[in-house]
Amino acid sequence: MTNYFKQYPDAEGFFKGYGGSFIPPNLMEEMERINNAYHAISKSHNFISELRSIRKHYQGRPTPVYYCNRLSEKYGGRIYLKREDLNHTGAHKLNHCMGEALLAKYMGKKRLIAETGAGQHGVALATAAAYFGLECEIHMGEVDIAKEHPNVVRMKILGAKVVPVTHGLKTLKEAVDSAFESYLKDPINTIYCIGSVVGPHPFPMLVRDFQRVVGIEAKEQFFEMTGEQPDHVVACVGGGSNAMGIFSAYIEDEDVQLYGVEPGGRSVTKIGEHAATMSFGKPGMIHGFKCYLLQDDKGEPAPVYSVASGLDYPGVGPEHSMLKDLKRVNYVVASDKECIDAFYQLSRLEGIIPALESAHAVAHALKLAKENPTSATLVNLSGRGDKDIDFVVDTYGLPD
Ligand SMILES: *Cc1c(COP(=O)(O)O)cnc(C)c1O
Repeated sequence: MTNYFKQYPDAEGFFKGYGGSFIPPNLMEEMERINNAYHAISKSHNFISELRSIRKHYQGRPTPVYYCNRLSEKYGGRIYLKREDLNHTGAHKLNHCMGEALLAKYMGKKRLIAETGAGQHGVALATAAAYFGLECEIHMGEVDIAKEHPNVVRMKILGAKVVPVTHGLKTLKEAVDSAFESYLKDPINTIYCIGSVVGPHPFPMLVRDFQRVVGIEAKEQFFEMTGEQPDHVVACVGGGSNAMGIFSAYIEDEDVQLYGVEPGGRSVTKIGEHAATMSFGKPGMIHGFKCYLLQDDKGEPAPVYSVASGLDYPGVGPEHSMLKDLKRVNYVVASDKECIDAFYQLSRLEGIIPALESAHAVAHALKLAKENPTSATLVNLSGRGDKDIDFVVDTYGLPD
């Protein structure tokens, strides 16, 4: 695992056979342009110092690492949180959106375009567009528009144009197709901004690099607090961006155990009832790249479900797919029920309401703490739970 970042991805965007770009030639040209621009611009002094200043003065970084006193007392071990819920807009997604939008500015683009499922990526990108004075177009399935009303309103307040997608199942997959179609109509003035470490090369690399700030900060903060390294580092995995952000700092430190937590949903034995891609998928193709994929009997992406809508993607980042095969990261599952339990434990013992996505990571950290009472566990708390409160209380009620 030495020289990891020089090796992966390779020049064609592969992580040991995963990733790459399997897209039409005209789109391929655009991806090459973005890749070349990224390599030329992202290492420049001006780009680096502007991004640093944005992170500090606009996003409020560094976000703290916090020791969970009461939670650790109850479960054993020592549990620490990297507080990405305190990043501006309440989640880690703004880290890569500000990077992507800054790249757009340096490339002379006028317009940002993206898909969104639950609306979290759309809101983060609309925020970045407002900051830089760029136009923003967000493609969203009609079904999701009806379900995620507050995020649709947020995007509109921020000045974004929300484009309803009315064909097929009217959800995330169709929104991706629609956004790519619109992008290809005006690639000169527009840049596509993907929402996780997925999609064709260079996006899995680019989004990972912009999320590395999470791990770089956390490693230094944790060491300063404790004088040592954590035994376990835990993050939830949807597409995998917040997990790559924190894992990247520890990947070459093989005595630190890494855990990616996938949603087990209502049942892991039934297709359509979970989104545990790593545990139950096999290699396949989605949205122009190769990765572990949950598939139906025809090899098409399978329907997926999770209580956390930010985790219900049938594919996963190509880098995670490689890290699974290399056995560097342990991919595990937390069910809806374990997630809701962790959601209330963190709320009531620490006064922190986590996003349901992040509560999956907390759930696994609680298991590790119980099993290893002398260990230290660092969790990436990817976002805050304000968006989930009505749903949780209406669906599961309040505990005693
Ligand atoms: C979108 C989202 C996720 C899942 O995305 P990754 O790319 O897997 O990190 C996790 N947590 C929160 C709070 C999110 O908004």
